[in-house]
Amino acid sequence: MNSANKVTETKVTTEQRLLDVRNLEVTYASGAAAVRGVNLSVDAGQKLGVAGESGCGKSTLALALLRLLPAGTKVTGEVLLDGEDVLTMKWGKVRAVRWAGASIVFQGAMHSLNAVHRIGDQIAEPILLHKKATQAGARKKAGELLEQVGLPAARAEAYPHELSGGQRQRVMIAMALACDPRLIIADEPTTALDVMIQAQILRLIEQLVAEQDLGLIMISHDLAVLSDTCDRLAVMYAGRVVEEGPASEVYENAQHPYGKALSAAFPRIGDAASRFAPRGLPGDPPDPSLLPTGCTFHPRCTVALDSCTTEDQALRDAGPRHRAACVHAGAQLPAQPTSAPATAERAP
Ligand code: ADP
Ligand code: MG
Repeated sequence: MNSANKVTETKVTTEQRLLDVRNLEVTYASGAAAVRGVNLSVDAGQKLGVAGESGCGKSTLALALLRLLPAGTKVTGEVLLDGEDVLTMKWGKVRAVRWAGASIVFQGAMHSLNAVHRIGDQIAEPILLHKKATQAGARKKAGELLEQVGLPAARAEAYPHELSGGQRQRVMIAMALACDPRLIIADEPTTALDVMIQAQILRLIEQLVAEQDLGLIMISHDLAVLSDTCDRLAVMYAGRVVEEGPASEVYENAQHPYGKALSAAFPRIGDAASRFAPRGLPGDPPDPSLLPTGCTFHPRCTVALDSCTTEDQALRDAGPRHRAACVHAGAQLPAQPTSAPATAERAP
């Protein structure tokens, strides 16, 4: 009877899973292996943060989820949205999924909005296209969406240049919500905004996700922002998830030296400069066409063992629902120096 119960429980969990990404690999036509064997999942009402420095494959992952990558890019694995694989769907279905299933909020609202059309028309366009609404119905919904994101419905008449950066990002969120998607993918949605506006936009996203029981994937290089907003975090390095777990666990008790360095680099209230390049971690992520052997982080790691130069590590248990791909994970990890190596600091 016990085992029968177990089977039912597993089945229910699988059915409820909104997004299930399995062994996703993306290689650009240039040979750059930008995403390598990524597994992750998001349930309705769940907020997953994806962290990592620039070049670690976060945007490539987001674009792959909705098949938005350039032609010639090789994508393998599975992207199950409500159980259906986006990677093998017919194009007609993919187009419908892009609005009504999952939609993306990008970083630069000014580039994504059309400068010569009123924002109300731009929000109404996907509603007309995908929801088979009347002109009047779509306009009404556009006004309602603007109010939902904290703008007066009358702003529908404005052109993008008449709005501030924060207001434009609100419009982007309204557009993403236009066809009632179940999953929102927000790729650095607040990176271009100042800190006060950034906080407002993050609270807005959180509120909408909670009200509408949406799934959220929030991408950022800023671990502090993610740990504030999300339930779980996945840290990407060189195209792989190298650490994942409950947000507060990963932020406060990182088990991968890279996760540790990222959390040290982004204090909750930090100076503006520190938000753009992780402080205290010398070097850059590797070029995905020329990955180092062994653990790809070993050239920057101050606690690497000899074996790390030849042996890569899979994710392993490092605490409750917390996993990290490091030989030290789960053990007491030596502190990663935040500026110069410890020996240099101690030198007279
Ligand atoms: P992130 O969003 O984490 O900054 P990206 O996904 O944008 O990372 O990029 C991951 C890697 O893939 C980078 O090394 C980048 O140079 C490379 N890349 C991104 N887009 C392309 C492309 N269209 N063709 C070839 N390489 C690309
Ligand atoms: Mg990016």
